[in-house]
Amino acid sequence: MSTAQTGAAGGGRPLGVMAALPQELGDLVEAMRAESGVRTVTHGRRDYHLGTVHGAPCVVTLARIGKVAAAATVSALIHAFDVEAVVFTGVAGGVGREVRIGDVVVADSLTQHDLDASPLFPRFEVPLLGVARFAADQGLADQLAAATGKFVAEEGPALAARFGTQLPQVHRGLIISGDQFVASAAAVEALREALPDALAVEMEGAAIAQVCHEYGVPCAIVRTISDTADAHAPTSFASFLTEIAGTYSNGILKRFLQARAVAG
Ligand code: SAH
Repeated sequence: MSTAQTGAAGGGRPLGVMAALPQELGDLVEAMRAESGVRTVTHGRRDYHLGTVHGAPCVVTLARIGKVAAAATVSALIHAFDVEAVVFTGVAGGVGREVRIGDVVVADSLTQHDLDASPLFPRFEVPLLGVARFAADQGLADQLAAATGKFVAEEGPALAARFGTQLPQVHRGLIISGDQFVASAAAVEALREALPDALAVEMEGAAIAQVCHEYGVPCAIVRTISDTADAHAPTSFASFLTEIAGTYSNGILKRFLQARAVAG
């Protein structure tokens, strides 16, 4: 498949927008359908939705869960759809002690907490690549954090009242990823000990950051905290995902894409 066949119509190269699960995309594909119409291309068992949304040409897709799924999907975004940059939105477990349910974390860097080829290589380091922490693109992360800050300033009090959370805070820092749903006090405490500056844990971000690093494609990751990765995580995650995640993604992505469209 050539990029000429699959690239977004008109203008510059599109932005890749990903989530793991449909609830995490909010109404983005519906908004694209209303604005420009959607062309859907199926590739490697995933649907890629091409069009313009909130003024920005995008390719929107779902990775499904886990590092391999995320790496395969972002690789297709780069090679089959020629995206200029990648943004991932979704939920995560809170790890940092100041990080509460309903807060938002924008990654400055990402690491795979379950990667350990020691003693051959230092724990967390990707063998033969020599990197343990992958940086998000700082410009893109700044734009995502600005959109998130605006969303929280404008809608935070209403969100907190509606969902019974505290007033949402926006954090910047380390997000850690691994192929486990972390759901016990002991497991989250072990992660805090191993990676004391970790703010949130999820299952895709560091894989996306690694692929983007290897291909020189800018990426940024934003995560709303759905649970605190302890014994309450399964129920907290499930209710947050169905009731709240889409509201956050809609509010953040709308402001981010509008600002991007204005900047051209
Ligand atoms: N049983 C769930 C599985 C969800 S996995 C289901 O039926 O859908 C959790 C998803 O949300 C992953 O995509 C991950 O990135 C994120 N996530 C949220 N909380 C998490 C946690 N505590 N540990 C790991 N990932 C978490």
